[in-house]
Amino acid sequence: MFSDSEAFVVKFWGVRGSIPSPGGETIRYGGNTPCVEMQVCGERLIFDAGTGIRCLGKQMMAEGPISARLFLSHYHWDHVQGFPFFEPAFTPENQFEIYGAIALDGSTVEQRLGLQMLHPNFPVSLQIMASNLTFRDLVPGDRLSLGNSRYDSSNNRVLIETALLNHPGGAVGYRVSAQGRSVVYATDTEHYPNRVDPNLLHLARQADVLIYDSTYTDDEYHSRRCSKVGWGHSTWQEAVKLAQAAGVKQLVIFHHDPAHNDDFLDNVAAAVQERCMGAVMAREGMEIVLQRSPIAVYSPVSPV
Ligand SMILES: [Zn+2]
Ligand SMILES: [Zn+2]
Repeated sequence: MFSDSEAFVVKFWGVRGSIPSPGGETIRYGGNTPCVEMQVCGERLIFDAGTGIRCLGKQMMAEGPISARLFLSHYHWDHVQGFPFFEPAFTPENQFEIYGAIALDGSTVEQRLGLQMLHPNFPVSLQIMASNLTFRDLVPGDRLSLGNSRYDSSNNRVLIETALLNHPGGAVGYRVSAQGRSVVYATDTEHYPNRVDPNLLHLARQADVLIYDSTYTDDEYHSRRCSKVGWGHSTWQEAVKLAQAAGVKQLVIFHHDPAHNDDFLDNVAAAVQERCMGAVMAREGMEIVLQRSPIAVYSPVSPV
């Protein structure tokens, strides 16, 4: 299909927000919390370390020495809880660069991941991880150009852009671009009333794929019984607005509410697709393959 030097494949390992939601009612979309893998021009990128990263790690263990970069959106549980169970991080021959923003209390990405593995939270410390771990602190707005050791051409460089999202304590959105193709990972963000978030509009401009926090429906968000205003999440209706304003080619509805079972999400899918051509619901095991032409091709894979 592709040589490694030109492949751009997105794979979803965890698509659920807030808390893992296993069980018969979520089996088709999946119950693991956020983890998205991108293989981009020979670079292996992982976005968030929710419980989905455990399954990615299991696959990586069968592959031999691994070199990858992990980008964290923020440190809420559902985005880091899988990290202590990411088996490749315990294996000496593997290496990982881990990126995350400085937290509001000034702690670094290394400190945040270390704290969740201290007693009484977890039996062994971060220092037990025997792989070569490098931690990189980010400031939202940073741009990174990833060198590619195997392919000696500037065409094969991967550009990462970042932006601050609207979430309690902050979160980072990422745009990954290579060879004229781009995917935006924007989860844990709340829309603004009556205007599109300018940070997101810029980040998602003309993107081939936008993965967006669509935890609620508009009705749930504005519910009188339990309003979700200020909780830091958005709706599928706002996802459609953003995707259309930014000229996105394919919208991916992501960070599903744990209370939304498969049938509920099927109904959301139908409603989204009526308003936004090509939009899809994220589900575990789904892959999106970006062709070198500007049209992304959706390749469904059976749920895991
Ligand atoms: Zn979340
Ligand atoms: Zn969050």
